[in-house]
Amino acid sequence: MALIVQKFGGTSVANPEKIKAVARRVLGKAMEGNQMVVVLSAMAGETNRFVALAQQMQDFPDPREMDVLLATGEQVTVALFAMAVKGAGHDAVSLLGDQVKIKTDTMHTKARILSIDSDNLRRYLDQGKIVVVAGFQGVTEEDDLTTLGRGGSDTTAVALAAALAADQCEIFTDVEGVYTADPNVCNNARKIERISYDAMLELASLGAKVLDIRSVGLAKRYKVPVHVRSTFTETEGTWVVEEDDQMESMVVSGVTYSKGEARITLSAVKDTPGMAARIFTPISQAGIVVDMIIQNTRAGDLTDLTFTVASSDYERTIGMVEEIVATIGAEKVTGSKGIAKVSIVGVGMRNHAGIAAQMFSVLSREGINIQMISTSEIKVSCVVEEKYTELAVRALHDAFGLGNNNPAMAE
Ligand code: ASP
Ligand code: MG
Repeated sequence: MALIVQKFGGTSVANPEKIKAVARRVLGKAMEGNQMVVVLSAMAGETNRFVALAQQMQDFPDPREMDVLLATGEQVTVALFAMAVKGAGHDAVSLLGDQVKIKTDTMHTKARILSIDSDNLRRYLDQGKIVVVAGFQGVTEEDDLTTLGRGGSDTTAVALAAALAADQCEIFTDVEGVYTADPNVCNNARKIERISYDAMLELASLGAKVLDIRSVGLAKRYKVPVHVRSTFTETEGTWVVEEDDQMESMVVSGVTYSKGEARITLSAVKDTPGMAARIFTPISQAGIVVDMIIQNTRAGDLTDLTFTVASSDYERTIGMVEEIVATIGAEKVTGSKGIAKVSIVGVGMRNHAGIAAQMFSVLSREGINIQMISTSEIKVSCVVEEKYTELAVRALHDAFGLGNNNPAMAE
């Protein structure tokens, strides 16, 4: 008998029929003698609908009240799911975040889990019930409801698996796993059988949307093997696990991209201590996420600073930068929207020289100009004009032999 945590995303529970189908699937596992904890998202589209409703009330909806609203989506699915299980003749219990005592900090709409009281869950499991937990929500020390940030149900599932020392943690979604590239861009993209936590963290931060990044961080910290797979097939998905030797032999395991970015350059800023802090502190305080930052030296005591933000933050950021420049001085501020970041990721890069150079050659062969570059031990990212995104991804995917039709890489 195993203790299994299974999480189903919004598209898996999008309507009553789907909820019943998922309930049957979970029931099948319970019938094999396993103890089952099920974590659910809200029905697809619901959380977005709530956000839109809230915006009709207040320009910047109060975060505490926002969480009270957002938490309702998952309340609906867990209740319906428990009914579906009971309707099929098995016992179940639905539980909200505060009932499980998923304690979080007080950062409304992006709270972090501090602790989970697993005794409650164990008691229900020992009674033979399927335990159905609302994803994405928790409660503060003061009993205020919180949510964990968009996509947070993955994190709930991994956190529960860690707290219960579950034998398996499965994340069910509408794709069959993690791919070597977006299958909508590369029709020969291949499902990755096993990927390390670190490579998955990079992929998730660089644009792959299949797993929420915080859940991967948590899985790594608590060594929870995570199986990402499809709700709609029985096919094995992708295992996100600790690194092994085989992974190291794969130099590049995936190509990913993120569109909708913008670039801002401050030319000829004074090269003195404290400049970067004066520029980036107000930007971060405004809640704007800065991604890549590049600083280059120029002749004299001057430097150029270029960084990227989400396109949707572009106007706001440029406005702030112009204000900052008025006090610190700079030759000019320029920028553009319509850029994309294309990245290659692989733990094997640690032991291979020349991967970045190879990437640059591939892009140059396609006539794609590289605007910015950033690297880590296990990834190389290039900023390019957005219209070349697909071309770049396909060229890199082929050049690094990742496709299905590449016999050298077949498993
Ligand atoms: N329902 C929440 C969202 O749409 C949480 C989740 O689905 O993981 O972001
Ligand atoms: Mg999700």
